Amino acid sequence: MSPYKSLEEYNFEITAEVQERYSRIIDEIGEDVNREGLVKTPERAAKAMLFLTQGYKQDAVEILEGAMFKEDYDDMVIIKDIELYSLCEHHMLPFFGKAHIAYIPNGHIVGLSKIPRVVDVFARRLQVQERLTHDILECINNTLKPKGVAVVIEASHMCMMMRGVQKQNSVTTTSGFRGQFEKQETRNEFLKLISSKLS
Ligand SMILES: [Zn+2]
Repeated sequence: MSPYKSLEEYNFEITAEVQERYSRIIDEIGEDVNREGLVKTPERAAKAMLFLTQGYKQDAVEILEGAMFKEDYDDMVIIKDIELYSLCEHHMLPFFGKAHIAYIPNGHIVGLSKIPRVVDVFARRLQVQERLTHDILECINNTLKPKGVAVVIEASHMCMMMRGVQKQNSVTTTSGFRGQFEKQETRNEFLKLISSKLS
């Protein structure tokens, strides 16, 4: 099975079921599901939700293993400013921001485009930012087995911005470090290299 399933391959019955439930939600909130602008909304919303949660059907380990190369390079590799869009599992509202990821190879490097793909696999699920950070960290650590890996995520949460405390400008930062990044010196070097982008 390809890890990059396109939306068209999604199960028709599941899409129809989700569509039906969205239709009932629209009705329950007092709208007219038959109004012109809303006629196709349940179908669009169902497809959007299935797209945004397609990570459940994807395998991040497979993505990394498919692009690992033997290489002696053993300095820090940093991928900064990886765009990230996810859904908070408490409200099913978006949270979005950036991920900064570094690793120190231990005999193998990985194709650079695969790291953002790993972010997407875990982000396209119902998540909390803390677990998302941990999922990415452990996946890279266990699959690539580098000398060290670091993950920093900074994100804004719509559930905080649009409802509840309504803190429009707050950014949540989470981080995780394994191996050589657990040493203060290495961790500081990484944080310094990404700090120009940290808010
Ligand atoms: Zn939330």
